Amino acid sequence: MDVGHLFNAIKKHPVLACITYVDLASFIRRASLLKDDILQPQPQRISVSHAPDVLPDSVTKFLAMSLDMSSDAVDNLWYIVKDLVWELPMSAETSAEDEVAFKLHGYELGLVGCTLYPPVKTCINHDCTAWQHGTLLKKEEQRRIVIFTHSEGAKPAWTVHLKCRECNTNYQFNYSVKDQLRTYYSGIPQHIQVSDHQFVELNLAMHWMDLMQIAVSATNCGHLYGIAQTRRTHDDTDHWQFGNVITTEQVWDCFVILAL
Ligand SMILES: [Zn+2]
Repeated sequence: MDVGHLFNAIKKHPVLACITYVDLASFIRRASLLKDDILQPQPQRISVSHAPDVLPDSVTKFLAMSLDMSSDAVDNLWYIVKDLVWELPMSAETSAEDEVAFKLHGYELGLVGCTLYPPVKTCINHDCTAWQHGTLLKKEEQRRIVIFTHSEGAKPAWTVHLKCRECNTNYQFNYSVKDQLRTYYSGIPQHIQVSDHQFVELNLAMHWMDLMQIAVSATNCGHLYGIAQTRRTHDDTDHWQFGNVITTEQVWDCFVILAL
């Protein structure tokens, strides 16, 4: 289905003509997540390769309530987008496809699926005139990094440093640096920096903390990750310049930073 056909079909329905693009995208995404639930109550001889014409009651109710639409609107919209929903890959497949696309076409252009930016967009130094004016921080430097993730192993990524041109504070992902003094941001970051070019995902660091509770040493946490890493069928980081081995010191660094 092309986009023109989709929008024309929606426009013709009075109850759907005012639907927002965000709601349309949410409808398609949520229906796609529920494909198996939509299929189960259908008659046995229905083809699994074609979208059913009618949604189960529970799915209609869920889409209606979660998107603040009438049941009629859900049924009409389903009839228009059902083939599109059926063709869409499941979310896990989508993320795998995106990873392959970045690997094949993105890496050589310097593009990856994940770039870690500092959590602040303007200077937060209250003595600085840029803070008073709310001036946007500008990119100072971009570095290739490796992120150790819990579920997908070591992944290539970028991190961007921003700099205030007025007070020369350098804003990095976990902390800011001014006059060689490093100040960590408040709150727990989603990724923890353990070396210049290596970060650990918060989920993985928390997993290590759990393991330490049952007397697994930091060294063995690192070993365990290394073993899991070798089981993975592909390694995206082999040409990304930085190592994908986690050291005992880096596991400890996670604890120290989380304890700050
Ligand atoms: Zn500043």
